[in-house]
Amino acid sequence: MKSEYELIVVGGGMAGLTAGARAATAGASVLVVESGEGVGGSARYAGYVWTAPTYEVMDAENSGGDVDLRHALVDGFAEGVEWIASLGVEIGQEQRILDFGGRGHAFDTNQYVDLCRQRIVERGGDVVLRSEVTELIVDDGAVTGVVVSSGGAQLSVASRYVLLATGGFQGDPEMRRRLMGEAEAAMPLRSNPRSTGAGYRLAESVDAATGFDDAGFYGHLIPSNVDFTDEDFVAMSLYSSEHSILINLDGERFVDETIGDHISANALAAQRESRALMVFDERVYNDWVLTSYVDGAVAVDKLTVASRRGGRVGKADTLDEFEYLPEEWGYNGAAVVRAVEQFNAEVGTDALAPGRLRDQERLLMAPYYVIETIPAITFPFHGVRIDAQARVLNAAGAPIPGLLAAGSDTGGLWKRAYAGGLASALVFGSAAARTVSVGG
Ligand SMILES: Cc1cc2nc3c(=O)[nH]c(=O)nc-3n(C[C@H](O)[C@H](O)[C@H](O)COP(=O)(O)OP(=O)(O)OC[C@H]3O[C@@H](n4cnc5c(N)ncnc54)[C@H](O)[C@@H]3O)c2cc1C
Repeated sequence: MKSEYELIVVGGGMAGLTAGARAATAGASVLVVESGEGVGGSARYAGYVWTAPTYEVMDAENSGGDVDLRHALVDGFAEGVEWIASLGVEIGQEQRILDFGGRGHAFDTNQYVDLCRQRIVERGGDVVLRSEVTELIVDDGAVTGVVVSSGGAQLSVASRYVLLATGGFQGDPEMRRRLMGEAEAAMPLRSNPRSTGAGYRLAESVDAATGFDDAGFYGHLIPSNVDFTDEDFVAMSLYSSEHSILINLDGERFVDETIGDHISANALAAQRESRALMVFDERVYNDWVLTSYVDGAVAVDKLTVASRRGGRVGKADTLDEFEYLPEEWGYNGAAVVRAVEQFNAEVGTDALAPGRLRDQERLLMAPYYVIETIPAITFPFHGVRIDAQARVLNAAGAPIPGLLAAGSDTGGLWKRAYAGGLASALVFGSAAARTVSVGG
């Protein structure tokens, strides 16, 4: 580690490594400080870089997000994908991701983060592991460096820019309680465990703006009662809830399930005890539960896996059998049956509440299945406010000199909507590198 760099990146995930590799490629001296044993963060679990392809699709899906940020994401996506390919990473054919019209590509995220790290080091930069940034150094309102804690030593390192890219605060239940709520604090974690809010706290220490409040989170429904480990992050995510119906402890549907499993996860967090039954029939089981959620992803029979792992699952030859759900689950079986029957009677008509935008088919093909489900969090949408150049903003909306942020540390882009975590890390990580090159 040297005593001075042009860019210090806090957190070596998708956002930090993209910024570091692109800034190093443009000739900047770069230090990446990563708390883990290796780089990559949550990108190591991911596989598809995708987003809304046009302003129209983005605006329809994510109308509450900051308009400059959401349009910057659309604008920067193709160039970001070209950059990934320029490193020699194979990019899959363009494909649809999610029914609202997302588009993107499969790629090897592990190869990408490793090549970024290699690029930084080849260009004379440093990547230090098992180290943390504990403090920002501020001079006359500008961030001019950091204090790094590494191997028991505290080192002050100067820089023109500091990029916050620690991946959010989902790993810290106390921060989730403070910034999101009780139910969100209790959710199982579906991300790398080291994103515990360091970036957010560093930004707060220089009075950065944060937001949006009540923006929600990216996550997925998973089976309840199952010991959820990182090997389950994809295997146990119940993406097929989009074709099922969800019934809460009061025996009611509470969300348009077809908008997206990640949206239903947010809605379920707000229900009593944050748990619900996912009910589906043989058609959904064959067409959606047993198949992969995007082309190329591994297909897992989640019902069987959940059952084997002690999850609450059931199967019935007629709907009426659901009257006799195990008592310890706490649901009124008769009310659950009524909710399915009401859904079957009303789907496709204006009477159905909540309505159903997409899959309008009734659940009629026996046998019927049920999995009890809870939400798990990947990252919060509340975070550090930035502009389209990845500059951190203060409460007045002005950039704080020297401070940048990108990826899941940032807020404002998504509000109760989502179209790609890797894409946002890629595009705003790239924007941060450009800001380092051009100044500002
Ligand atoms: C199972 C799973 C599947 C996913 N699939 C997809 C997908 O297919 N497509 C998609 O778009 N998105 C997907 N995502 C989301 C995507 O992975 C994230 O949005 C993205 O990787 C976030 O990148 P980031 O750089 O902001 O944060 P992270 O990847 O979380 O990186 C943050 C890094 O900062 C480090 N760090 C934390 N605190 C400190 C500190 N104090 N000091 C130094 N370092 C620190 C962490 O160790 C970590 O390496 C998925 C996520 C998961 C968990």
